[in-house]
Amino acid sequence: MRQRKKRMLSGMQPSGRMHLGNLLGALDNWIKFQQEYDAYFFVADWHALSTNYADTGKIREYIHEMLIDWLSSGINPDRCTIFIQSRVPDHAVLHLLLSMITPVPWLERNPTYKEKIEELRERDLTSYGFLGYPVLQSADILIYKADVVPVGVDQLPHLELTRELARRFNNLYTPVFPEPQPLLTEVPKLLGTDGRKMSKSYNNAIYLSDSEKDVREKLRTMVTDPARVRRTDPGDPDVCPVFSYHKIFSEIGVVDRVNTECRTAAIGCIDCKKLVADRMVRRLEPVWEAREKWVGHPKKLEGVVAEGSRKAAKTAAQTMEAVREAMKI
Ligand code: SF4
Repeated sequence: MRQRKKRMLSGMQPSGRMHLGNLLGALDNWIKFQQEYDAYFFVADWHALSTNYADTGKIREYIHEMLIDWLSSGINPDRCTIFIQSRVPDHAVLHLLLSMITPVPWLERNPTYKEKIEELRERDLTSYGFLGYPVLQSADILIYKADVVPVGVDQLPHLELTRELARRFNNLYTPVFPEPQPLLTEVPKLLGTDGRKMSKSYNNAIYLSDSEKDVREKLRTMVTDPARVRRTDPGDPDVCPVFSYHKIFSEIGVVDRVNTECRTAAIGCIDCKKLVADRMVRRLEPVWEAREKWVGHPKKLEGVVAEGSRKAAKTAAQTMEAVREAMKI
C-alpha cells in the first residue's frame, strides 16, 4: 500500500514582486517540498493586516504579483495546493475558537512581539489582531492538520505556541490536532546590489520580473570592494558582494579564478560582473519564460487560486467538523 505523504504547510504575506533572495531563500525550498510532501502554500493576506491594517490599498495587486512569481518559479498547481487565506473563512473561525483557550501571557512572551513593535515604531501595533497573530498562525497550521511546517530557527517559538495550543485543545476536549513538527530550513541570505541584505525596502533588489537588461544594469552598477578604486588596484573578494553572487551562481572554476585574479588585479570589476551576470541570467531565463504563461492571463491565475482555495476549504471544513464535535458547539 502506498504511504500517505506527510502534509506540509507554508505561507507568505503578500509583499508584491519577489526578488532573487526570495527565490533562493524560500521558493527553491518550496519547489523541493512539493515533490516530497502533500504541500499547501498560501498567501497570508489576513496576516498582512496585522501590521499593515492602515494601508490596504495595494494588497490585491501584491497578491497577484506574488502568485505570478510563485508559479513562474516552478510552484506547480498540479503538485500542490495554492490558495489565499481569506478565501478559506474557516481560518478565522478556528482562530476565534483557539483564541478562547489561549492565555494572553503566552502571546505576550512571544519574543517577536516586542521586537516587531520596536522595529515598526512608526505604526501603532497595540491592536488585538497583532497580539493574536500567532493564534491565527496556529489556526492556519492546525486547520490542515499539517505534519510539518518549514521554519527558520527564529520562528521556532511560534511553532511551539501552535504545538502548545494543539495540546491544550486536545486535553480540554477530544484529541483533534496532531502536533506539527518543525522542518528546519536554511534560508541563505542574499546581499542586495548595495551590499546590504537584499530587501524591497532598501531598493537594492533584483526582481524575478526584471528584464535581462535590468538585471545586467543592476549588476553593472553594483557596489564592489570599496577599496578597489582603480582597475590596477588589487581587490578583496571576501568583502565584495559581487563575489558573494559568484559563490552562488558561478561554476567552481570561475569562483576560483575570480578569487585569485581579483587579488592580483588580473581581472577588472567590469569583466568580473559580466561573468556573474551571464550566470544569473541563465538562472532566471526559465522563470522569465514561465512568466509569459501567467502575465496578462488573470483568468488562468484565478482558476488556479479558485481551485486551490476550494480544495483547501474542503480540507478545512473536515477539520472544523471534528472541532465542533469536540467542543460540542
Ligand atoms: S573583481 Fe569582482 S570580486 Fe573583485 S572587487 Fe571587482 S567585482 Fe568584486
